[in-house]
Amino acid sequence: MTDKVSSRPATTVGLRVDVDTFRGTRIGVPSLCETLSDHGIYATFFFSVGPDNMGRHLWRLIRPGFFLKMLRTRASHLYGWDILLKGTVLPGPLIGERLTPIIRAVAEAGHETGFHAWDHFEWQNAIDKMRRGDMLEWMTKGVTTLTDIIGQPPSCSAAPGWKCNDLALSVKQTFPFCYNSDCRGTHIFTPVVNGMVVSQPQIPVTLPTYDEAIGRNGVNADNFNAFLISLVAPEKLNVLTIHAESEGIACLGMFRDFLKTATRQNIRFVTLGSLLKQARNIGRDTITPGFNHGRDGWMAYQSQGREIAAHAGCRP
Ligand SMILES: [Zn+2]
Repeated sequence: MTDKVSSRPATTVGLRVDVDTFRGTRIGVPSLCETLSDHGIYATFFFSVGPDNMGRHLWRLIRPGFFLKMLRTRASHLYGWDILLKGTVLPGPLIGERLTPIIRAVAEAGHETGFHAWDHFEWQNAIDKMRRGDMLEWMTKGVTTLTDIIGQPPSCSAAPGWKCNDLALSVKQTFPFCYNSDCRGTHIFTPVVNGMVVSQPQIPVTLPTYDEAIGRNGVNADNFNAFLISLVAPEKLNVLTIHAESEGIACLGMFRDFLKTATRQNIRFVTLGSLLKQARNIGRDTITPGFNHGRDGWMAYQSQGREIAAHAGCRP
């Protein structure tokens, strides 16, 4: 069988892999590395390196919105019961300490390696209450751990659950990040915090994640890949987030099919750092909280990109 090459113009997609849990790191990351290597793709991995307390999300079952999402995405299938129980009946293991070789292998394979979280759950749950000192301590623990693992400071960071505020942007300036990817939006921008320009640019995520899209507007596991490819546009910034816990484990076959189809359609995947190198005329913007039908609670949005982000299935 010969594959017909698409007449679609060559399109670049920044590929970001979020790693939130112990299980995602142990099982999902090696599988994704192998899959990306098969396609000659380099991506940006954002690691969580402290305690895995993501199982505490179970307590959110008492909140109706999150309960519906768990049912919609069949969370136990997507994440595995061991993830859902981590930090509840089981103690939260230190991911970076226990899985050092796996994280180091990602950096050694040539992927871009960034900081995602010390304790992913804690950040998502407590950012609204955290003061500068709390954030600095939380980030320092994570960045120090990741630096020890990969032998150099991580070049970028991404806030857990796209939960970011002006204080967090300001605290990030303490670290030598070349850029951050903390929000949803439409184009690369330089953030402005309290009227001051921040030196680290933002590379927003433009495309919905699997768990946000599935079960809405007729999108299901069978047509998700086609839906995602339909949102990729050559004239726009395209940034996709996959998760080691889903695309690396339960949805690995689907993700492999996605890469095959996307390659046939002239889509090329690069690190987020590569997108930044190619960016011209980076403007200024602010971040602002907004809501997304597919996700529990608020997320940070690029202010000027809110209406366009809404078109991609995200309600600001
Ligand atoms: Zn995450």
